Amino acid sequence: MPQDPRRRIPRTDALLADSRFVTAADRLGMPRVKSAVQLAQSFARQGAIRPEDVAARALEELERPATSLRPIINATGVVVHTNIGRAPLSAAAVAAIADAAGYVDVEFDRATGKRARRGRGALEALLDAVPAAGAALVVNNGAAALLLAALTLAGGKEVLVSRGELIEIGDGFRLPALLESAGVRLREVGTTNRTHLADFADAIGADVGAILKVHTSNYRVDGFACTPSVSELAGLGFPLIADVGSGLLAPDATIPDEPDAGTWLAQGATVVTASGDKLLGGPQAGIVLGRADAVEQMRRHPIARALRVDKLTLAALEATLRSGDAPVASYLHHTPTSLRQRTESLAAAIDLADASVVEVDGRVGGGGAPGVALPGLAVALPESYADRLRLGDPCVLARVSGGRCLVDLRCIPAELDEQVANAIRAVRNAGGD
Ligand SMILES: *Cc1c(COP(=O)(O)O)cnc(C)c1O
Repeated sequence: MPQDPRRRIPRTDALLADSRFVTAADRLGMPRVKSAVQLAQSFARQGAIRPEDVAARALEELERPATSLRPIINATGVVVHTNIGRAPLSAAAVAAIADAAGYVDVEFDRATGKRARRGRGALEALLDAVPAAGAALVVNNGAAALLLAALTLAGGKEVLVSRGELIEIGDGFRLPALLESAGVRLREVGTTNRTHLADFADAIGADVGAILKVHTSNYRVDGFACTPSVSELAGLGFPLIADVGSGLLAPDATIPDEPDAGTWLAQGATVVTASGDKLLGGPQAGIVLGRADAVEQMRRHPIARALRVDKLTLAALEATLRSGDAPVASYLHHTPTSLRQRTESLAAAIDLADASVVEVDGRVGGGGAPGVALPGLAVALPESYADRLRLGDPCVLARVSGGRCLVDLRCIPAELDEQVANAIRAVRNAGGD
């Protein structure tokens, strides 16, 4: 009777002593290597692979990325694209995340050996970036920042808000529903297109606790429209929560209509709330900047603990603010001139009769500045390329417009241009038409 092949399955300790697995363990950690080995052994036990192939199968497993998230090369020209993770992190932020991955003094003072203010480095970086703020707080995302502000500063009373600012922020989430689900009582004033200061003044009674101003970051009402300014609302004498959305901390001439935290605070907002992963170009986070007493009150609210961020977010946010090299900022400021050489090189490199360089408008995206076109360039390909580029490896996400597949280099680091060219050539060689 032949020997049971399962007896030939190599033992775990023998495999782990193999130099290839020792090297892998240095890189990926022993737990990961061990589980890859055990997985391969279990395949062999089930007869799915031969015992001789266990080592190779385990090594193959270790080559695989540790998560199911696949990198995407963003050729859409949309700078802050929610479906693909909003802001790409800067090199400094990526390094900061790696540095913070182990034990770190996120909430610990090495000098005294005692507990310290959590994430103080990130908070100081925010205050340095926005001198008009007396204090800062970081929570999970923009929605959390707004929720915490409304729960804290309205103190169970009504929050007045213009009817024209009751926005839906994507995937069916509506700010009013979000706030009301947590017990915030919203009182709408004015109309969809026009709200006057008098509408707010008329609504003020004993039951008003705060006023909310929301930047309509993803749509625009043109024509017969008006809404009171931050300074007018601040003059009403109630805590003013101003949701700036985009995370712009100071004015940016490229997007002149986009409000920024510093300006709104200077105009009298009590607190400004914003996202960390839109125009700020950092990790997902909710930024709160404002009067020190109001921010402290928010920090002490019981729900703040449920909204807090982890050390990785704090590390990435601080690095984003301090290093000033967020990719979002450079992508936003590209022009046809700055993109021309790379775009023409790409068109030449793919050597395709149907390809041409065309003028296109990039977009800020879900991060703000609705309707603002960012003039740029793209390589136009036959429309059929789009699906195949998206399904390729690497995944190149292009934009389909006017029956063409547009490959826009605005949001692609220059060092990836060659990969984009290779991806297009691969589609062409596979019979792209
Ligand atoms: C994006 C946005 C939000 C939501 O922020 P998240 O970080 O996505 O939670 C809230 N308000 C405004 C005005 C926004 O633009």
